[in-house]
Amino acid sequence: MTSRLNRLAVAFLATALATLGVTVANPAPASAAMTICYNTSQAGSYASVANQAASIWNNATVNLTLSANCGSNLRIYRITGGGSYAVRTSLGNGRVYIDTQQAAQYSVLRIMTHEIGHILGLPDNYNGNCALLMSGGSAGTSCTNPYPSTAEASRVSNLFAGTFSATDRSADVFRDSWPSVLTPVS
Ligand SMILES: [Zn+2]
Repeated sequence: MTSRLNRLAVAFLATALATLGVTVANPAPASAAMTICYNTSQAGSYASVANQAASIWNNATVNLTLSANCGSNLRIYRITGGGSYAVRTSLGNGRVYIDTQQAAQYSVLRIMTHEIGHILGLPDNYNGNCALLMSGGSAGTSCTNPYPSTAEASRVSNLFAGTFSATDRSADVFRDSWPSVLTPVS
């Protein structure tokens, strides 16, 4: 009898709360995917390149989604001179600058995906291997590969899953990934 009354009381209470518009929140998922809103208002003609790079990262990784112009976790800039570089303020947040002069020598899509890779927690890895995105300009101007390797992509997925190392999450600036190519004097 007591038990039945309790059940009735609980049912009544739930109905009353629902009537009042009170909802009981479900526990948050263990690891929610991060949405990285990128802003191309300063990217000029490179906005479409940024969109392609975002698609590449979204297809290659889990636990994060790059989404266009829903906010400004990541701002993309088109600049001329000074070199392309990335400023990471924290994992998934910062600014990327793409130099038109370097884009005339190297694949602009490779530059874009590489620099965004820094925002996503990857360091440079100048080993000359074109199969790696983070080898940057060390792979030469003929390397146009804009895709992260399986290892690079899984590292990013793991970083966003919370398998962090302090270094990869920290604020940092990444410069000089694309050495200038001197035109031979004829
Ligand atoms: Zn770099």
